[in-house]
Amino acid sequence: MVTEAEKPVILWFRKDLRLDDNHALNAACRSELQVIPLYIRESSTAGTGPLGAAQAWWLHNSLESLEMKLREFGAKLVLASGDALDVLQDVIRSSGAKMVVWNRRYDPPGIAVDTRIKRALGEQGIAAKSFAGQLMHEPSTLLTGAGTPYRTYTPFWRALEKSGEPDEPIEAPTKINFVAQLPKSESLAAWKLLPSKPNWAKDFADIWTPGEDEAHQRLDDFVEGSLQDYRLNRDLPSRRATSMLSPYLALGVISPARIWHKTRGLAKRVPAEDVVHFRKELAWREFSYHLLYHFPKLPYANWSDRMNGFPWHNDEKQFAAWTRGMTGYPIVDAGMRQLWRHGFMHNRVRMIAASFLIKDLLIDWRRGETWFRDTLIDADPASNAASWQWVAGSGADASPFFRIFNPILQGEKFDPDGSYVREFVPELAALESKYIHRPFEAPEGVLADAGIKLGITYPEPMVDHAIARERALQAYNATRDAA
Ligand SMILES: Cc1cc2nc3c(=O)[nH]c(=O)nc-3n(C[C@H](O)[C@H](O)[C@H](O)COP(=O)(O)OP(=O)(O)OC[C@H]3O[C@@H](n4cnc5c(N)ncnc54)[C@H](O)[C@@H]3O)c2cc1C
Repeated sequence: MVTEAEKPVILWFRKDLRLDDNHALNAACRSELQVIPLYIRESSTAGTGPLGAAQAWWLHNSLESLEMKLREFGAKLVLASGDALDVLQDVIRSSGAKMVVWNRRYDPPGIAVDTRIKRALGEQGIAAKSFAGQLMHEPSTLLTGAGTPYRTYTPFWRALEKSGEPDEPIEAPTKINFVAQLPKSESLAAWKLLPSKPNWAKDFADIWTPGEDEAHQRLDDFVEGSLQDYRLNRDLPSRRATSMLSPYLALGVISPARIWHKTRGLAKRVPAEDVVHFRKELAWREFSYHLLYHFPKLPYANWSDRMNGFPWHNDEKQFAAWTRGMTGYPIVDAGMRQLWRHGFMHNRVRMIAASFLIKDLLIDWRRGETWFRDTLIDADPASNAASWQWVAGSGADASPFFRIFNPILQGEKFDPDGSYVREFVPELAALESKYIHRPFEAPEGVLADAGIKLGITYPEPMVDHAIARERALQAYNATRDAA
């Protein structure tokens, strides 16, 4: 029998797999109760949302890292699967816990689960306390003068800037008082989050190291290095000039407030415009969550009704070729293969590949959104959906539909010497730079010298961009006229 004073607090980890700047952890420590650290593998439609295969790999590794951190404090992470309320009830029954703490999430299914849990636990007299931390600003706080949510980014950014600095991040605790007898845990290996036959994630580890320490190291390196000239270089995919922090943010291995604060007081070393530009990207993440929170249909319904009757072609063969990086447009194929190889794609190339799917192939943006969700290790319900809708022209802050990226010119502008293409499309590696983004225009002799047989070693372009562009504009105009 546990005495009142011995009743523990459950610290429910979700997309906040960190000890630094973790408000729920901080509250658990300050309660002076003994702590049970718990992670729940919820069903695919509840809470953390459907888990893609690539992010499952990342989750496995991130949980393992968190577990290692907790061991330094003499504890283990308790793992359990099932409906979150059922799991919490089991742990409460077996441990006598009198309080549950967690950091809030902002995806609509997650909010629904949390609301139900708070009510149920409250009725039982168990305190359920939630805290901010996934975002820098609660989506309910930044509103227009009329008290309505923002629909476009620029006024949102102005409001964010005006609202002052986000709360100061809190340091990781130096001591956590864990319960001596932790409840029984499932085994992480039994969750089978890692691919085995075949192990398609084998190259992920070339560029991704899990864990909080690594996230902080990346942040330090970025601030000391590429942040300078970020504005200039961030669009060049071969440069690795961005922070590469999105996978850590996606599972909360680092907090956005920690990143923001790290970029303070750099005035003497880093030009202000680079810092502002970087912060504006963090603000795009906030804005995406603002949209998801206020417009819960964002991941699956056209934001703009005028896209509802759009005549998508949805050709399965073409979709398959796009997913495999076999479109015949080198910059698109390099991006899609980077995604296969590293579970990541550079932001500029995400835009080009998404535009190609939607506008050159007329394939519904939701097919692309689903594919990215399954293959990106940074898959994020807000940023992914908002970005796809942005490219489709169906979004809140959409690029107009008639802004159709030319994959050849985009490649030549942002990957001028073709280094990015050469890295991810090795069959084109020996092609001279002049033709690297347009191999179909290269003379026979040039192709032969580079060991390329178009249609055999590398595909012919699956559509003619100029014709596809006209087709897309016609489809769009017809939809607009019909609306
Ligand atoms: C079609 C498409 C799908 C996308 N899907 C996702 C996704 O599932 N998850 C995801 O985190 N990002 C997504 N993005 C946004 C962006 O591509 C990535 O956040 C970025 O490439 C991550 O690299 P980084 O951490 O080096 O970024 P940095 O340039 O270092 O930016 C810092 C942080 O700002 C945020 N950020 C940067 N750009 C954006 C953006 N356009 N929208 C929202 N947040 C941004 C990210 O959290 C990023 O880690 C998508 C973009 C497109 C065009």
